[in-house]
Amino acid sequence: MQIDLSELTAANDSRKECTVPIEKAEFSFQKEQYPVEEGHCDLRLHHSADRQVELEATIHIVLMMACARCAKPLSEPFDLTYSCKLDLNKKTATKKEETDEDDDEDAFVNFLINDRFLDVDALAFDTLSVNMPFAVYCTEDCKGLCPVCGKNLNEGDCGCSATADEPKDPRMARIADLFKEV
Ligand SMILES: [Zn+2]
Ligand SMILES: [Zn+2]
Repeated sequence: MQIDLSELTAANDSRKECTVPIEKAEFSFQKEQYPVEEGHCDLRLHHSADRQVELEATIHIVLMMACARCAKPLSEPFDLTYSCKLDLNKKTATKKEETDEDDDEDAFVNFLINDRFLDVDALAFDTLSVNMPFAVYCTEDCKGLCPVCGKNLNEGDCGCSATADEPKDPRMARIADLFKEV
């Protein structure tokens, strides 16, 4: 959802707090699509003067993901914070509390539209992109699927040889590839 900043920037030293729903149904990341089960953003905005806006966002998103070993669907919650100083004149943001000072100084942001609309979905997804885990697992010791027969090994042993070579079922090849990556 987009919010209009023109009312905020009409007066100096004005503040706005709001909770904005995330409307996009899917989050695209590295060629994968993750359905958004729930999502909203708590925003605190402060316009000091001259179209300089301090922004603090707390982002709550629940993504439908899958265990990287056994493919069990998982509801993965994310609670993320993002804060910056926006310059609406330059369409740039300077991150606050950034320890790595060379990084993201006055970075151009894509969540500002026509210098006055804040695209909260884009802000949330940008923040999520830099916080996505490499993989998620249903449990820390998930045994995954047998690369030969595809049985979920959390539900018991399948009896296949652990030294079996390439998967016989081509549908299992992709899951076998996942094993090689781990
Ligand atoms: Zn699993
Ligand atoms: Zn098996």
